[in-house]
Amino acid sequence: MRADGSGSGTLSRLEIDSLKAGVRIEDLAARYVPSLRRVGERWVGLCPFHDDTRPSFNVWPDSQSWYCFGACRRGGDVVDLLREAEGVDFRRALELLGGPPAGATAGRGWQSPLPVAVPRQSEAEPELTCEDRAILNAASEIYYQSLMTNAAMRRALQARGISLGTAQTYHLGYATGRRLARYLAWRHLDLERARCLGLLHDRRSGEDGANGDTSGGDVWEHLSQRLVVPVMRGWETVYLIGRATREAQRPKYLGLAMPKEPLTGKGRPRRSQGIIVVEGPFDLLLLHEWGYWRQFELLALLGTQFKRRWLAHVGPDDRLLVATDQDDAGEAAAAELMAHFPGQAVRLRWPEEYKDVGDLARAPDGRKVWARALNDA
Ligand SMILES: [Zn+2]
Repeated sequence: MRADGSGSGTLSRLEIDSLKAGVRIEDLAARYVPSLRRVGERWVGLCPFHDDTRPSFNVWPDSQSWYCFGACRRGGDVVDLLREAEGVDFRRALELLGGPPAGATAGRGWQSPLPVAVPRQSEAEPELTCEDRAILNAASEIYYQSLMTNAAMRRALQARGISLGTAQTYHLGYATGRRLARYLAWRHLDLERARCLGLLHDRRSGEDGANGDTSGGDVWEHLSQRLVVPVMRGWETVYLIGRATREAQRPKYLGLAMPKEPLTGKGRPRRSQGIIVVEGPFDLLLLHEWGYWRQFELLALLGTQFKRRWLAHVGPDDRLLVATDQDDAGEAAAAELMAHFPGQAVRLRWPEEYKDVGDLARAPDGRKVWARALNDA
């Protein structure tokens, strides 16, 4: 490590290698290179580090390495890629991969500000094939690009109280309804599998897609014209949920045809004061926006159902601050959580006229009302 001219805290060579092994380089690269696609054994795309007109950026999954044959003539491994792309030093790049910062003790209480690599597929989690993961990642990328290039949608997000920074941190997206099938096909990903996951549907003759959208040809996108929130584990997207962008659009939230996974907060606190549980992804995004990730872990159930394994990390001394919606389903979920965690789970209460955090965000003094509810819990 000293050869890099930078220390690595207390991490051993072995720990560094295992951090590197926790991230697939093609997943990481796809985040910076939306044009990345598979060509035989390697992946190729437009280099993000110079003004590239022909795809010069190459990634080799087998050796977990990358190289730009264009103007840069640069390359390396996942750490080098993070250093270049994020403009950080070696130590910081390791932190971003999921290691502890210098001086901090690894383990509970510390988490990378970027999505960290976690061990894949504990047996209770849904089995996603390599192809499934590539498809979900690709969908997440194309939606992210669509949001970042759509000023009207970014303004719509801002109107809901979500800043560009939070949108980028959570890799939020927008589904135009016109790009996904073409993009997946172009990346040589399996459209049939995308249908199975619930991302695409066949358009029967004479039938309009959701919202009367006929622009997608013979397929239509399930999440068409919705703001898309990806649920990520490490660098991988494991689930997508879409929020309506118009009042008339129903339902308000739409998920995929696969088991739901909860949305977790990014940038968890050094020393957590508890876990705030909300229903909707936007409730969580707002709490992140308001800075609560500094003191609390955040978890959005994406509905009112939850699985025990989602809360498997909750220790006997952890507080669970339940902020599900103030309606029948939300109360039932809160009651169930409190039954599961007697003496640990507390129900947050705020004035009845507000159903959820989103309602509070729209109220002039909503943040204060929320702070009071949290304080009183
Ligand atoms: Zn280059």
